[in-house]
Amino acid sequence: MSVAEKTAKKYAQETSLGLKRRARKIHRALTEFYPNARCELDFENAFQLLVATVLSAQTTDVRVNQTTPGLFARYPTPDAMAKAEREELEDILRPTGFFRAKAANLQKLSARIIDEYGGEVPTGLDDLVTLPGVGRKTAHVVRGNAFGLPGLTVDTHFGRLARRFGWTASDDPVQVEKDVAALFERQDFTMLSHRLIFHGRRICHSRRPACGSCPVAALCPSFGIGELDPQAAAKLLRFELAP
Ligand code: SF4
Repeated sequence: MSVAEKTAKKYAQETSLGLKRRARKIHRALTEFYPNARCELDFENAFQLLVATVLSAQTTDVRVNQTTPGLFARYPTPDAMAKAEREELEDILRPTGFFRAKAANLQKLSARIIDEYGGEVPTGLDDLVTLPGVGRKTAHVVRGNAFGLPGLTVDTHFGRLARRFGWTASDDPVQVEKDVAALFERQDFTMLSHRLIFHGRRICHSRRPACGSCPVAALCPSFGIGELDPQAAAKLLRFELAP
């Protein structure tokens, strides 16, 4: 029997109370391990965070952070963004990929913010998800980090880790959000999201998780699916994020 199979067997009979306790232990361990976990997009206000999160689709936060200073210097408000020359805006956004679609979404969402919300980014989840280019994940990023309203931001890292930890069996982000929400206090949602995403980016990678260097290995039902040798695992760690 492989290590992964033995580990999976160990957790096969876990009760729902056991699952909740283990989930919270994992969160405590990640809290200690990532004391600086935070939103990795640079922003100064809700509009900037909304724009940066829309731009982060299909690219890295590092790339977005290289692009947004110039973007916000040129178009600091929804009004300026809505009135931008499309070609000039596209040129600035080009390094983030899908720049035509992103430019169109930014102009449409800026116009909606002006027309329907008096120039202020709305705080409601139902309002935010109606803005062009804004899904539940982006809405929760903005609510959690610009408005202090707790939310689970189920991106690719969050979903993968929640499944590896046995917190959900679903691939559907809305179901993942629901399953994970049942395990934690609402007030912890935003920081839990940051810590999971930090862990997914740095250690529990999609293809080769560094199990042999993982701070939550003893609590993880997926221990053994990645590199177990501590020295080889240490080489997989990514603490500096490259674009
Ligand atoms: S790196 Fe391995 S042990 Fe750590 S969380 Fe990911 S799958 Fe589990």
